[in-house]
Amino acid sequence: MQLLAYLWVGPVTLCCLPLALLAKWTGGGYAIHSGVLEVWGGWIGRRLHSGIPVLGAVNAVTLGHLVAGVSPAHLDSSRTHERAHVEQFEHWGALFPLVYLLAGLWAHWRGGNFYWDNPYEIEARVKAAAVKTGDLCRH
Ligand SMILES: [Zn+2]
Repeated sequence: MQLLAYLWVGPVTLCCLPLALLAKWTGGGYAIHSGVLEVWGGWIGRRLHSGIPVLGAVNAVTLGHLVAGVSPAHLDSSRTHERAHVEQFEHWGALFPLVYLLAGLWAHWRGGNFYWDNPYEIEARVKAAAVKTGDLCRH
């Protein structure tokens, strides 16, 4: 099943693979962590820190099975949140960026914030908060 998930999300991940080389060539790095290619630093890290289209400045961003972050520390602190987005990618496949965009626009249209009221961000924040407070460990 995991292989199918990689294939289902593959078009997005493959399109973003050059980001790993770009990060490495500009002073950053990359490594696989728990089945996800994590990319950090260099031009990628500076770009994320200074702001990207739609989202503005972010610690990390999930692009299929690739997560790009400002630094290894930023990736570490946002791992649970970003893994929730990986799961969302695995659900929607290459359609997820469009689904995410539409959900954000819907939230904005209803008077909310594109990012903070986006249901996919809310889900990721809830999962990250649950891990921080240990809720997932209590059954
Ligand atoms: Zn998020």
